[in-house]
Amino acid sequence: MTDTLVAFDEVLERYDPALGLEVHVELNTATKMFCGCPNAFGGDPNTHVCPTCLGLPGAMPVVNATAVESAIRIGLALNCSIAEWCRFARKNYFYPDMPKNFQTSQYDEPICFDGWLEVDVDGETFRVEIERAHMEEDTGKATHIGGATGRIHGADHSLIDYNRAGIPLIEIVTRPIVGAGEKAPAVARAYVAALRDLVAALGVSDVRMDQGSMRCDVNLSLAPSGSDVLGTRTETKNVNSLRSVERAVRFEMSRHAGVLDAGGKVFQETRHFHEDSGTTSPGRPKSDAEDYRYFPEPDLVPVAPSREWVEQLRSTLPEPPAAKRARLQAEWGFSDPEMRDVWAAGALPLIDATVTAGATPQAARKWWMSELLRVANEKGVELAEVGVAPEQVADVQARVEGKSLTDKLARQVFEGIVAGEGSVEEIVEARGLAVVSDDGPLLAAIDDALAAQPDIADKIRGGNHAAAGAIIGAVMKATRGQADAARVRELILEKLA
Ligand SMILES: [Zn+2]
Repeated sequence: MTDTLVAFDEVLERYDPALGLEVHVELNTATKMFCGCPNAFGGDPNTHVCPTCLGLPGAMPVVNATAVESAIRIGLALNCSIAEWCRFARKNYFYPDMPKNFQTSQYDEPICFDGWLEVDVDGETFRVEIERAHMEEDTGKATHIGGATGRIHGADHSLIDYNRAGIPLIEIVTRPIVGAGEKAPAVARAYVAALRDLVAALGVSDVRMDQGSMRCDVNLSLAPSGSDVLGTRTETKNVNSLRSVERAVRFEMSRHAGVLDAGGKVFQETRHFHEDSGTTSPGRPKSDAEDYRYFPEPDLVPVAPSREWVEQLRSTLPEPPAAKRARLQAEWGFSDPEMRDVWAAGALPLIDATVTAGATPQAARKWWMSELLRVANEKGVELAEVGVAPEQVADVQARVEGKSLTDKLARQVFEGIVAGEGSVEEIVEARGLAVVSDDGPLLAAIDDALAAQPDIADKIRGGNHAAAGAIIGAVMKATRGQADAARVRELILEKLA
């Protein structure tokens, strides 16, 4: 079946989009939500399990207090009210990766509710209303073997790993976002980005979309322009990058419009997003809440955070990321495009730490956004994972400013750090990376170079100082890059004056 797609601009001539975003965040607690099993990514299959997270009869769950604390801090950072008393609920459905046949979640009594988060798109501020943020547990992970695409369709058997079953999740649900019009895809992306930064600043999750520790479900519906009734929505599941969030919204807008223009009805269903083509395909019909037969979880006591505790947690909130960005940009004197690039590359906290360690903002930005970003791209890892610490960048930069390293030698030091050759000092020693500061060897190399290129020597003598470049180059080559080019230039001009 081929979807009829309507061009994006044309969609907006006839319809208004409504967005709804549901973001799951895996918390980085030491243990799972309701048992003492380790909360760790990876591990041999089914090694982080116990009777509770396997749902064996008679096993009794206990709520992880740190997860509750993290949930409240997320809620407070999102300007939510915090429930004085709330319960967990069983969401009943069968799925092979969910051993209990119900997911312990929250239903009509979420721990956090009625908040908001403001996001900026092209200088325009959108306030995204948060309906709720509730606690729940993750499911296990099924792997389908034998099919072409890794999906269950066409597979001949499936394997299930319950290590992830019971890992604490916070699900953050927005109210319908209307009125964004043509900016709807950008608003969706900006919201998920802002939420990611906020949760990262709280330190309660590593919010890695590529590893699934932050996942976004994108709800979208279209209504005829001017109508205040919401259309039928689809829910595109587990979109795992910011760019994909934006693309999923655009695609679904075009697809919905195609269905509606032809007089058809949009099915209420989940959709799969395909990274390669930027398209979606049907998943399963979307259940309504009553299909899950929610009821209060009888094995867990209610959660009743005291107001004193909530206020104490409020005092632990970090500076809001958007405010921090604005403050740092002013302090550092970066232009808007510079700051945007820094932020997009994930370099902001690294530059911040490098500046704290003593480097100037410009120098910190230079290293992280050129040499180290290049290494990260080459290795296919995040900038924070290249294996170079901000303190090391500050150390190298101090040596460059002290003229014991040149930029070129500094790059070799970073190469050594990435290769695990030790500290900056050890690498400088072991690789012999020090600027030749003694004029003796430099003068000898200059004499050699001048003797080899007498015509250049004449040009310099005749006042053409730019010609010195060729001699400097030869000296740098002879000293394997360990000469200070500015000093070499001085010596040449003195010599030929
Ligand atoms: Zn367990």
